[in-house]
Amino acid sequence: MSTARAEALSRMLRGARARVNAATKAAGRSDTVQILVVSKTYPASDVRILAGLGCTDFGENKAQEAASKAEELSDLDIRWHMIGQIQRNKAKSISTWANVVESVDRASIIPLLAAGNSPTEVLIQVSLDDPTIQGRGGADPAQAVELAHMVAETEHLTIMGVMGVAPYPGDPVRAFARLRDVSQRIQEEYPHARMISAGMSQDLEQAIASGATQVRLGSAILGNRTYVQ
Ligand SMILES: *Cc1c(COP(=O)(O)O)cnc(C)c1O
Repeated sequence: MSTARAEALSRMLRGARARVNAATKAAGRSDTVQILVVSKTYPASDVRILAGLGCTDFGENKAQEAASKAEELSDLDIRWHMIGQIQRNKAKSISTWANVVESVDRASIIPLLAAGNSPTEVLIQVSLDDPTIQGRGGADPAQAVELAHMVAETEHLTIMGVMGVAPYPGDPVRAFARLRDVSQRIQEEYPHARMISAGMSQDLEQAIASGATQVRLGSAILGNRTYVQ
């Protein structure tokens, strides 16, 4: 294990935690905002170091890469989150490694996720894009409650809340406000579904100000990825 890498990760993690704590305080919040470490493109050895530093939740966006990391690290007590686009032919196997699937954006994959018979927590990914511009994925906000309904009615799946990616370029504050509105509509029917996964390394402050309960941090903790995903 490289000590230099462990020291770098420790330093960046401290910085990220300080930003999250400062933003939570600035928003006048007394609850805890969870950090999801987005480990995509980074090796299992980095995840092991970060787990040793107290990180418990890791996000991946490619089913195959995630499955092999989860297998290699099966001795660790950590939770894996799927945050990438779900392909039909991978949906069933995702539930074998993912404790949480944050990127459910259409009805057709819901029964497929449940087909692995593994208990899985689900967030509905809501599109925060202007309908006129190139999208970052997600369901139309008008369909989110119906999708939450479908998840709640499906055995093995539990609806936990919503996820969103702010458009870039664009106004993250407006986008996160839209996500919070959808969250409130879902909570009217499912009061326990309070998770709002919003905010990445560049906009975590705006997300926390807008009520995010989880931020998804990749580059802020692991450094800039050498290729874009
Ligand atoms: C890659 C990714 C992140 C992390 O992005 P950073 O800018 O590296 O923090 C968060 N959410 C999703 C959906 C991602 O694909």
